[in-house]
Amino acid sequence: MKTIAVLTSGGDAPGMNAAIRAVVRTALDKNFTVMGIERGYSGLINGEIISMDRSSVADIIQRGGTILKTARSEEFKTESGRKKAVQMLKKFGVEGLVVIGGDGSFRGARELSKMSVATIGIPGTIDNDLPYTDFTIGFDTAVNTVLDAINKLRDTSTSHERVSVVEVMGRNCGDIALYSGLAGGAENIILPEIGYDRDKLCGDVLKAKNKGKLHNLIVLAEGIGGAEALARKIQDITGIEARATKLGHIQRGGSPSCMDRILASRFGYRAVELLENGDSSRVVGIKDGKIIDLDIDEALNVPRHFDDKLYRIANALA
Ligand code: ADP
Repeated sequence: MKTIAVLTSGGDAPGMNAAIRAVVRTALDKNFTVMGIERGYSGLINGEIISMDRSSVADIIQRGGTILKTARSEEFKTESGRKKAVQMLKKFGVEGLVVIGGDGSFRGARELSKMSVATIGIPGTIDNDLPYTDFTIGFDTAVNTVLDAINKLRDTSTSHERVSVVEVMGRNCGDIALYSGLAGGAENIILPEIGYDRDKLCGDVLKAKNKGKLHNLIVLAEGIGGAEALARKIQDITGIEARATKLGHIQRGGSPSCMDRILASRFGYRAVELLENGDSSRVVGIKDGKIIDLDIDEALNVPRHFDDKLYRIANALA
């Protein structure tokens, strides 16, 4: 194998640039020619392919987003779209591809690997919703962004003796809410994996108020409902003023944390090692602090695991 390429796909995550940098520089050290594909699978189909050298990835380790840009592509989900993608890779002489993205992007990578393109996936998503790996690139930064917001909301909540409901990202996976809620000392954490009883929640809010608590911070994952509606209900039922804050896309941006930069660098390095070894259809991850790699199919079939111990700790300390 002489030429490899890298792309970012699906939702962006802080640390994707650090992963691109690691892939490019490791590959150059191993004497590969390296291409960057812009706008994910959509750019691949359209031939948006540029050559990369060491300086193409200079000054990006600290930047959020992705210099290669990211996109979603319906065309790539069709067989004819994927055929175009493979032809384009052939045209540019690319034999190996590193895909940085979430589970959708990995499904795409799996299809390409069936069409004789060696593919390796790097998990890049703020949601931490790939159960085969303990952490994905971007999660740590997103949690720290949420934590910063929680600290600020707590100040104003306390001054006004209000309830503050903070809605964070996480459709099926409540890890952002769980980690930021625990680290931010939230009174309640509402997760899609657990659900919640609204009457009990309101009862708890009232009890806390009667005990003299000045604020009540509730962190809610988006997958279980909107913060606006919940705040309104709490206010109606308890009579205590409640405000909602939806953090939205600020969770996706910002300079990646040290943890994410290091994780991305380790993942990128391993991904290139795998291509060098002639591996394909594999993904990299981290388990108990060690970098691992496994078959894409196997990785996508790992059942979702919920850390109920951490949830119990958060509740015990609230
Ligand atoms: P993420 O990678 O963040 O989960 P998406 O689910 O939007 O993001 O997937 C990114 C892209 O991956 C899609 O726009 C599509 O081009 C491709 N993709 C997703 N699922 C499949 C699939 N089953 N087969 C082929 N390509 C897929």
